[in-house]
Amino acid sequence: QKQLSERINKLETSATLAMAAKARELKAEGKNIIGLSLGEPDFNTPDFIKEAAIQAINDNYNSYTPVDGYAELKEAVIEKFKRDNNLTYDASQIVVSTGAKQSLANVAMVMLNAGDEVILPCPYWVSYKDIVKIAEGIPVEVKTSIENDFKMTPNQLEAAITPKTKMLWFSSPCNPSGSLYSKEELRALADVLQKHPQIIVVSDEIYEHINFVEGHASMAEFEDMYDRTVTVNGVSKAFAMTGWRIGYIGAPSYIARACNKIQGQITSGANCIAQRATITALKAPVSKIKYMIDKFKERRTLILDLLSEVEGFKCNQPEGAFYVFPNVSALFGKTFKGTKIENATDLSMYLLEEAQVATVTGEAFGNPDCIRISYAASEENIKNAIAQIKEALS
Ligand code: PLP
Repeated sequence: QKQLSERINKLETSATLAMAAKARELKAEGKNIIGLSLGEPDFNTPDFIKEAAIQAINDNYNSYTPVDGYAELKEAVIEKFKRDNNLTYDASQIVVSTGAKQSLANVAMVMLNAGDEVILPCPYWVSYKDIVKIAEGIPVEVKTSIENDFKMTPNQLEAAITPKTKMLWFSSPCNPSGSLYSKEELRALADVLQKHPQIIVVSDEIYEHINFVEGHASMAEFEDMYDRTVTVNGVSKAFAMTGWRIGYIGAPSYIARACNKIQGQITSGANCIAQRATITALKAPVSKIKYMIDKFKERRTLILDLLSEVEGFKCNQPEGAFYVFPNVSALFGKTFKGTKIENATDLSMYLLEEAQVATVTGEAFGNPDCIRISYAASEENIKNAIAQIKEALS
């Protein structure tokens, strides 16, 4: 242990993975745990994508790929950015990586010096904070609340900026809150950033297609933000391809070149078969994956209806992704079946043990008043889970 680096000792274990491990442990003991903790679609990868992968194997795509991705895939990414986001990139601005997680890690490693501050509106995706820390940056959390749909206001952004601020990272639709920033809201944040031209933005749009209202807005759409924004996306969520591990960025060329350089020293190009399959995924019309989005929307309605009956759970209506993020602070200080609930972590542990439902504490996302419940699960599991939660808290 003593031999390990300070870098690793400072790192937290991913709370979502820790919860999944605890749930597995209880399952092994014979308990029937309903898992609503993981951020992954419960659908299979669509057949037309699987077929492209099988074709790629038969066509002998088995060699190292270019570090930043096959030219055809970069072309498909360019077309996708144009078609869906009205963003114009050329091939020198695209880097394909082993999941959006690697894209984010690359960006942190190439942009941050020790002590650089990165603004993270809370709740943020669980890994942002630790990726920033690995790169020796300092996460600066901006608290938001359910009252403003967990969105950072321009005033809050302004107040968080210091001479050391180097970046702003956020996801829209947001994991864990499901909130979406409208074009107007992004513009208002961009107006603040106008006054601070040294700040680079990471706009994580991996839930782009899992959107229940009209229209997705990208920060890079604004002319004055285009040269200061890294747009991150990938196929894990919308195409049910979490295990295939393909993510990508569109970025100013100097950032893309630097990401290519670091990736070339650490992992090289992403998996060749997954890249070929992603060409097919990205070229397909979005209508081909709409059946999954429609299902997520139905389940959102279902889970919100059911949760409205659970005392102590306060929900807003998330507009995207597949999570609800109820504020459960009304339950703090209460005792259930002899267990005192002091915070969100206690509650999610209690729900795991007593209701046999795995959720994730909001503490992991920088918001200790809430818990995250994923509704990427069957309707039966959602119904049973919420009934069991209700019973455990009755
Ligand atoms: N960004 C956000 C907001 C996520 O929720 C996730 C996955 O949970 C990722 C990035 C990473 O995605 P990938 O599977 O492409 O690494």
